[in-house]
Amino acid sequence: MLRPCSRPIRARIDLAALRHNHAVVRNHCGDARIWSVVKANAYGHGLLRAAQALTDITDGFALVEIEGAIALREAGIRRPILMLEGFYTPGEVALYLEHRLVPVLHRPEQVAWLAQARLPAGFPVYLKLNTGMNRLGFGDADFRAALATLQGLEGGVDITLMTHFSDADEARGIAEQMARLQAMRGSLTYPLCLANSAALLRYPETLGDWVRPGIMLYGSSPFAEASAESLGLVPVMTLESEIIAVRDLQAGDRVGYGGSFTAAAPMRVGVVACGYGDGYPRHAPTGTPVLVAGQRTRSIGRVSMDKLCVDLTDLPQAVVGSAAVLWGRGLAADEVAAAAGTVSYELFCALAGRVPVVEPDLG
Ligand SMILES: *Cc1c(COP(=O)(O)O)cnc(C)c1O
Repeated sequence: MLRPCSRPIRARIDLAALRHNHAVVRNHCGDARIWSVVKANAYGHGLLRAAQALTDITDGFALVEIEGAIALREAGIRRPILMLEGFYTPGEVALYLEHRLVPVLHRPEQVAWLAQARLPAGFPVYLKLNTGMNRLGFGDADFRAALATLQGLEGGVDITLMTHFSDADEARGIAEQMARLQAMRGSLTYPLCLANSAALLRYPETLGDWVRPGIMLYGSSPFAEASAESLGLVPVMTLESEIIAVRDLQAGDRVGYGGSFTAAAPMRVGVVACGYGDGYPRHAPTGTPVLVAGQRTRSIGRVSMDKLCVDLTDLPQAVVGSAAVLWGRGLAADEVAAAAGTVSYELFCALAGRVPVVEPDLG
């Protein structure tokens, strides 16, 4: 619980919503199994909190941070764990064996390090293919070499083929990358793991054996043109604070650093205890939506470290102490992100450590 003297800002994390969104994934993914993506502290929602809420309903967890993976094991999580970037150094191979972590192998050195270890029979590995994103993954020749090395290992490894789409949420789609994948795998029948949130919602042909949803679990839409609500998703994080000051302005009065906003007519302004030091985007321009006392209004002026200002001219009921929702229930993070020229992924990940995180009472 909050200490009585705390600044009024907090992030509410609704774990029932997280489980609901996981059920939405399940409804879309047929028989494919689900890696719940919990990298970056579960997109800012809290790694252990999110994993504990999902562990009885999901099939595994995917992340990139080995400290996080070990923390999951130490918390008693027994589900498979997929490491999306694999090992960075050969010394990590032993940790993967000790903690039963599944590596994504995306470059030849990682295969060589693995080949030097004593592996249990059927050790699972993901082989990542570059099908056009040109970030991580093997090209044709390296893929054949990696496959030969892995197939030659004593005891045998359990291979899954993976790729990642660059445009599953965009007009270009996935066709070129799917064609490239088919060409690379030829007649190989290894299991497939391809789809992020956007692909699993839009392209059933990408479901394969395992899917890798992230953003939709947290209640945001992977698509610019479709709202989370229209996809049946519910926000998990609500960032809320309060109005800590109210003042009346005359025409010509300026607001905040640089006076980037000037009142055109008399108006009422509220100051919200939330700024970029809390993770609110400093780039959010005048006009970014904010929910005050349950009603939508707009931000005005520049966001500062601890505060931002809102227009209360049409909200006479708003007073010092009125609730302000920056994103979450009642105001989609996607909308705030779009106004600020970013995506809700970044808003969530940027939630600052100083913001207390609370889990709402059910009901
Ligand atoms: C982050 C990530 C995902 C999840 O993507 P969303 O768009 O959040 O669904 C899936 N696969 C890989 C390789 C990732 O890095």
